Amino acid sequence: MALLKLCILTSEMAPYAKTGGLADVVGAMVREFSRDAHEVRVFMPLYASVLAANPSLQPVAEVQQRRLFIASTHYEFSLKTGRLPGTELPIHFVDCAAMFDRPTLYTTDADEHRRFLLFTRAVIESCKSLGFAPDIFHCHDWHTAFLPLYLKTVYSGEALFARSRSVLTIHNIGYQGIVPAAAVADMELGAAANRLDAADLKRGVINSLKHGIQFADAVTTVSPTYAQEICAAPLGMGLEEALRARASGVVGILNGVDYQEWDPQRDPHISAHYGPDNFAGKGANKQRLMVTSGLWVTDSTPLIGMITRLAEQKGIDLLFDVMPRLLEQRDCALTVLGSGDARYVTFFEGLVRRFPGRAAFRAGFDEPLAHLIEAGSDMFLMPSHYEPCGLNQMYSLRYGTIPIVHRTGGLADSVQHFVPETGAGTGCVFNDFDAPAVAWALNTTLDWFAERGMWRRLMQNAMAQDFSWGRQIAIYEALFRRIAAGGSGP
Ligand code: ADP
Repeated sequence: MALLKLCILTSEMAPYAKTGGLADVVGAMVREFSRDAHEVRVFMPLYASVLAANPSLQPVAEVQQRRLFIASTHYEFSLKTGRLPGTELPIHFVDCAAMFDRPTLYTTDADEHRRFLLFTRAVIESCKSLGFAPDIFHCHDWHTAFLPLYLKTVYSGEALFARSRSVLTIHNIGYQGIVPAAAVADMELGAAANRLDAADLKRGVINSLKHGIQFADAVTTVSPTYAQEICAAPLGMGLEEALRARASGVVGILNGVDYQEWDPQRDPHISAHYGPDNFAGKGANKQRLMVTSGLWVTDSTPLIGMITRLAEQKGIDLLFDVMPRLLEQRDCALTVLGSGDARYVTFFEGLVRRFPGRAAFRAGFDEPLAHLIEAGSDMFLMPSHYEPCGLNQMYSLRYGTIPIVHRTGGLADSVQHFVPETGAGTGCVFNDFDAPAVAWALNTTLDWFAERGMWRRLMQNAMAQDFSWGRQIAIYEALFRRIAAGGSGP
């Protein structure tokens, strides 16, 4: 079968820059694509942190000190290249210090949308200079969602891209890149400005993600259930009509797991390895986690882990009353790693003060600790209000760390509620997004834990699950081929 030429645009990718699941997903995805020998070029911004950690990136001769006009200002960008560790895959970094030399990947600066407009247009211009004619431009999230519009307007006469098509993958519809309508002047669309969403302009806004939905040749999202959920209110978050207006709909493809990174049999971040045939190492990880976290409970006390962005989406509000009551009433312990909103930091810090030795909280981003929490906890809590796919529940299954999840999005697609009578199921799934439901789920899972035989069965079921990327990549490939051949989605 003919190989595909893929141009992948992303605002973050592991191992270079990560704030959440997008980085893991794109990193694993491009590895899989390149394994199938497709011609893959990945583009991402050269953030200050990436430059500091990768000083030997090579300049690309064809793309040096190029000028782009954005918001009546000339910006200069160049391209630097490295190879994805362990592969020959080229990763191109858009170097524009005026935009990307900032302390964090994302900012609340007034020009945030311009940073990613520059990135998107720099990628198209770079492809031109490199003579690279992708079959598919694969865009991820709002940051790169204007590419389909540019391709169909400003660059429509470009012979190099005559056969190029675009695919937008939505990793989280809660982030749409909404800017004031005045930003139209930043876009340098010329006459094509009349293709911007007129109703939104009238309301005084431009919605980046919405234009991706309207102009991409295919739209995908990261689980089948989320694909359905976002086509209706409230989870479509205002974009449900735009999604429903697409004749070819939105395709839900569950993310996979990179088991090179996330498997207790070989995880480089843990010292005691274990697998489905030998759980012994899990106990050693629990010991280390308790010491690291400052927990003083016994080995037999069930330990609940959480690793999460501290954002409203993640359902932490549900725990405000539930968690203190649980820690008061039941023999259990909690360890949490997260960064984000101050009110959740305050909540978890309060728990630690109130339950010293039984509740632990680490504020910040800590990759090794994330692996240790997966390996050392008995159960893993994800009470998300919505969850496009979610990765930690799938990691948890492989680590025999029983997920407790709200039945939504990818959580619903990857965890089956355990039924003690039949012994089938892989975790605890609660239906209603409210405090009684999460309290029920926590208490139920603690009851299961107390029954050693039952718990062993549950761990075995969980560890037998396989969410490797292979199958999922085949679905993306089939979609890309259909789109490249002139089809339109499924
Ligand atoms: P989201 O992308 O919404 O944050 P996902 O479950 O898809 O949620 O992915 C989260 C990823 O980010 C996982 O790999 C998780 O381990 C990681 N992660 C989240 N918060 C932290 C943190 N504070 N420290 C280390 N890793 C984190």
